[in-house]
Amino acid sequence: MRKINLILLFFILATIGFSNQILLQNLRFNGNPPQMVIDVEGNVKPKYNISYDEQNRYLFVEFLNTRASSNLKNKILNGSYVKNVQVRKYKNSTGVFIFFKNNINYSARYWSNPTRFVLNFDKNKAKKEYTIIVDAGHGGKDPGATGFNRYHEKDLALKITKYLKTNLSKDFNVIMTRSNDSFISLSGRPNIGNKYKGDFFVSVHLNSNSSSQANGADIFYFSRTESNYAKKVAAFENSVGDKFGENADDITLIMGQLFYKKNKEVSAKVAQNLVNSYSKKLRMTNRGAHGANFAVLRGFDGPGILVEAGFITNTSDISKIKQAKYQKLAADEIAKAIKQHFY
Ligand SMILES: [Zn+2]
Repeated sequence: MRKINLILLFFILATIGFSNQILLQNLRFNGNPPQMVIDVEGNVKPKYNISYDEQNRYLFVEFLNTRASSNLKNKILNGSYVKNVQVRKYKNSTGVFIFFKNNINYSARYWSNPTRFVLNFDKNKAKKEYTIIVDAGHGGKDPGATGFNRYHEKDLALKITKYLKTNLSKDFNVIMTRSNDSFISLSGRPNIGNKYKGDFFVSVHLNSNSSSQANGADIFYFSRTESNYAKKVAAFENSVGDKFGENADDITLIMGQLFYKKNKEVSAKVAQNLVNSYSKKLRMTNRGAHGANFAVLRGFDGPGILVEAGFITNTSDISKIKQAKYQKLAADEIAKAIKQHFY
């Protein structure tokens, strides 16, 4: 008898406890426009608090005096915006955590008939997520390669990187290792990248050869193993250090090696995509993507590529690259490949 009374009492208390708690019964995501919808039982719209943590990219919605149906709990979803969703029940409220892949803008409101909570969100374009380090090869006392036509690699590389900065700045924070004709050591370049916590490093150069026949574009990424051809190009680009008495910076090298494998994978993919689209767009020979031991990429703590945008010693290549129109075209292709990697 006593036992039955206790059960009855519990049942009555539970009923009272639940009676004014509103049931949240279904949670779903729509793709276009991107939104999260929670169906609410009945006509009452529960009060809610909403807050967004920009640092950790999660949105927290707390529905007061509600309970969650079982299909609302611990829901894990994958989409182009959302990493995962977690539902937590506490006291008389339900908390919904939505973890986003990128920073977002959001707005929320209730809709009636049937009652539902709708959270609209979109990528926050004003908030730039990533930093790209743009490096114009050579500079100052180091002219890089010089064509028979007296074009200097350092000047053409700088022109391309200026267009590259303009393009990338629409979507990224951009740091230039140099924006004028100044000399920066090889290890100084990745050091700048690491100081600004760069997410990607791109170094722009022009190739050269004793034969004016050699032509086309190559894209390099950092690799400890390299082909003979890649070794030759890297030897030229690395010779700046020897010429101007630079010692390798051990800490920088170790930093670059920490995530060697992952960075190499990412860089190789961007390099391959870029060399294909670049050579097509600029109508240049596709010389491929190669792994090489470049000092300028080695020290950077993240993925990166080195673009040989054409041969300064080839008439056809230089007739394009000397023109602003082609410098911009080259920059736009490089920017496109980087954007594809991030977005
Ligand atoms: Zn160079």
